[in-house]
Amino acid sequence: MSNDTESQFQRQKVITVIGSTYIEFIVMDLMAKAFDAYKKLDFSSRHFQTSIWEHGHATAAIVLSVIGIEAYRNRIYYIEKDNVSRGNNAVSIDLSNVLSRKNQAFPADRFKELLTEVFVVRDVIAHNHIYEVEVLSDQNWRMIGHKQRLLKGYGFDAKYKTSVNSRTKKTNLLKLNVQPAKIGFEDLFKVMAVFDLLVGVTQNILGVGHVPFRVHYEIDNYWVRHLSEILTHYFDQIPNQRFIKELEKLSKQLRRDFAVFLPTKYKWDWFITNTCPICSSLGFSKRTDLDFCNKCGCKVETVVEIPRP
Ligand SMILES: [Zn+2]
Repeated sequence: MSNDTESQFQRQKVITVIGSTYIEFIVMDLMAKAFDAYKKLDFSSRHFQTSIWEHGHATAAIVLSVIGIEAYRNRIYYIEKDNVSRGNNAVSIDLSNVLSRKNQAFPADRFKELLTEVFVVRDVIAHNHIYEVEVLSDQNWRMIGHKQRLLKGYGFDAKYKTSVNSRTKKTNLLKLNVQPAKIGFEDLFKVMAVFDLLVGVTQNILGVGHVPFRVHYEIDNYWVRHLSEILTHYFDQIPNQRFIKELEKLSKQLRRDFAVFLPTKYKWDWFITNTCPICSSLGFSKRTDLDFCNKCGCKVETVVEIPRP
């Protein structure tokens, strides 16, 4: 190519990392649709499966979110000029390793366990694990009990074995359903809370440029700025009190392990630390100009900094 021709063109180097576009533009809509079906459930009766509407939207959202986590691993390792690992649980191991290399106090093993459980559920959906479910019903077809068994050859691997309680068919820490038909909004909510935590700790320890994430979502004529605002929006409407208690307990465990590794400017920007300054219940900051506690009624008119305990 002659110099004359060359001068007519401009060259630029583009790094192709999908990142979180699925989550920013698609997952939030899927979450809203899954919630529409979930909120109508009768939580006083037992179920061995969720409705196909809730299940379809929740499982698609989980798979897309986990693809986003893998994309972030690739982006981080490219920026860090490091080689990604190979193997069955490489993404969880790589993300935990890079965070503990930058901050030796980071509880890498605990974080790896969390991510591993999310990847186990991704595999259940993406690799179509097959369970045999025996259902015992009364004369009116109300379920009395059920037995569920993963069929050999349909998804059992090392990380499944270490992450799943074989009796409950749920993962050990996050209690995510691994019986495929049961996966629904509650599982999606917990996966998104882990995603929110992942964004927070990686932005804080590695830098915002390593994990750029913004949400583009409107709730009641208000444009949301943080994923935690969306999670709080649903948290406030969850009709299943057992799930509310489960989330409070899980968030407390996650706060104990990871709160000090989240950005400190506004603790309310992250779901697990969005707690009431008086009674520590979740969901205190609804949005930037609206902070109140559903449980004790504590209210803050303007956002002020409250030191960590
Ligand atoms: Zn309170």
